[in-house]
Formats: sequence, structure tokens, C-alpha cells
Amino acid sequence: MSFFEEQLKKGKFYICKCKNCNIIFWPIQKVCNKCGENTSGVESSCKGTIIEFSKKESEFFGLVKIDEDIRLLGKIISTELPRIGQSVVMEVGFQNRPVYSFIVEKN
Ligand SMILES: [Zn+2]
Repeated sequence: MSFFEEQLKKGKFYICKCKNCNIIFWPIQKVCNKCGENTSGVESSCKGTIIEFSKKESEFFGLVKIDEDIRLLGKIISTELPRIGQSVVMEVGFQNRPVYSFIVEKN
């Protein structure tokens, strides 16, 4: 199991950042492919916004852009119809593969 997967199991979403030029990489890589400097792991804020979504049976699925400018697919947890641009909080897990779910913030 990789470091990234271990962290997902703990509910943490890790990205990494170049120590020199501050570029964010995901998936995690050890070395910056721009300047060759080592990167360091950073925990994501796990906040994002809905880019698009669809309804399948009684559940919503969608594409979310998290604050670090990474796009992820997952289940959207909302009691009512979500809106594009709505703020969500991401919860992560690992069950044989990464699992992402997005909880719509009440407003
Ligand atoms: Zn760099």
C-alpha cells in the first residue's frame, strides 16, 4: 500500500508540493518534474466546488474541483438537488481503491 493509500484509509487526502517552485502535484511524486527538487507531502483542505453532477437512482454523482485545483469524481451527498458551483467538503477512504465522497455544505 502506498503512502497516499495509507493516508486515504485514515481519511486524509495528500497532495505534494515542490519545495522550490511550490507547484502542486497529484498523484504524489517524489521529485518536481519542472526543477528536479524534492517534493513534500501536504494534506489537502478537502474543500471544493461542484463542476457537474448527475443523478443515478436516488444518488448523486459528480465531478468536483477541490481547492488545490484537482478534479475528482465521486458520490455527492445532499438531501436536495445539488447546484453547480456549490461548496462541498470531501471525505476520503480506501476500499480496494480510493473512494471520494462530497458532502454539500448547508447554506
Ligand atoms: Zn519545482
